[in-house]
Amino acid sequence: MALLFKTDIDRGTAWAQAFAKHAPELELRQWPEIGNPDDIEYVLVWAPPEGVLSRLPNLKAIFSVGAGIDHLMAAGELPEGIPIVRMVEPGLTAGMTEFVVMASLMLHRFMLEYRSQQTAHHWEEINQIPTAQRRVGILGLGTLGQESARVLSTFGFPVAGWSRTRKEISGVDSFAGETELKAFLSRSDLLVCLLPLTPETESILNRETLAQLPTGALLVSVGRGRQVDEDALLEALDSGQIGGAVLDVFRQEPLPAESPFWDHPKVILTPHVASMTNPETAVLAVLDNIARIKKGDAPSHTVDLKRGY
Ligand code: NDP
Repeated sequence: MALLFKTDIDRGTAWAQAFAKHAPELELRQWPEIGNPDDIEYVLVWAPPEGVLSRLPNLKAIFSVGAGIDHLMAAGELPEGIPIVRMVEPGLTAGMTEFVVMASLMLHRFMLEYRSQQTAHHWEEINQIPTAQRRVGILGLGTLGQESARVLSTFGFPVAGWSRTRKEISGVDSFAGETELKAFLSRSDLLVCLLPLTPETESILNRETLAQLPTGALLVSVGRGRQVDEDALLEALDSGQIGGAVLDVFRQEPLPAESPFWDHPKVILTPHVASMTNPETAVLAVLDNIARIKKGDAPSHTVDLKRGY
C-alpha cells in the first residue's frame, strides 16, 4: 500500500515528515516518483497531473490538499466510483477563522479609512459603530463558515448565514436556498463569502446581488475568485454601494499587474492566503480516513460530485 502525494515543493517535506511521524508504516511516493502504479491506493493532491489517476488500478481514495475541490474537478476526468475526500482539518479551520475575524474587524473598525488618512498624514476620528449594529452575513455555512460565524458572534455582531440546506446553530440566523438569498443579503452590513465554487455559485456576487446589500456594505471575499463579477464589484466600490472590501481570491491568480484592485483605496488584498492546510494536523485527518476505508467504512467529508462540493 502506498500513498502518492503532490504538493508544492516547499511543503512536500513538511507533509513527508508529518506522515513519517504519524504513520511510519505508510509508504510514501512523492510526485513525480510514482514507482509501480499498482501499489498506489491513495493520492493526496491539489490538482492531479493529467492522466495520472486513470493509471492507478488499485486507487481507493483521492484526498484533496484543500477544502475546495474545484481545482481537482478542473484538472480533467476523475476515475468513476473512487471517493474524493475534501480537506477538513483543524489547522485549516483555525487559519480561516483568524483571517475572517481579522478582515471583518479591520473593515468594521475603519482600517481602510485610517490607512488613507495615514497616507495623507491626516488625523481625524471616525465614530465607532458598536458590533451590535453591524449585521454580519456569511455565504456558506459549512465547516469554515460555521466556525467563523460562531467566533464573530462572540464579538456581539448579529450573525446570519446562507446555505443550501437550513441550519440550526445557536446565535446564528439561518437563511437557505435561492429564494432566501435576497432577504439574507438585504440584512448583511458585512458580507463574508465562504462558498465552494460550483456552477451555482459562479458569479453569485454580481450587479444584482451586490445591489441587494445595504448601501455601503463591507465585503470579505475568501471563497473563490470566480464567485465575484469583478467589474460589478469595482462599480459598486466606486459608487459607494460597497464601502470596502478585503479580497483574498480573484478570477485570475496571480492578480494581473494591470488589475484596478491593486491600487484601489477601498480594497485590502492578499494573495489567496486566507488559510492553508497544516500538514502536521492534516495528516491525522487523512490517516483517520485511511483507517476508515481499511475497516470497510465510508471516508468522512467526501465530495458529492452532483452537488459539486
Ligand atoms: P463546506 O462544503 O463545508 O461548506 C460549503 C457551504 O456552502 C455549505 O454550507 C453549503 O450548503 C453552502 N453551499 C454550497 N453551494 C451552495 C448553493 N448553491 N447555495 C447555497 N449554499 C451553498 O466547505 P468549507 O466550509 O470547508 O469550505 C468552503 C470554501 O472555502 C471552499 O470550497 C474553498 O473554496 C474556500 N476556501 C478558501 C481558502 C482560502 O485560502 N481563500 C482556504 C480554504 C477554503 P449546505 O451546508 O446546505 O450543504
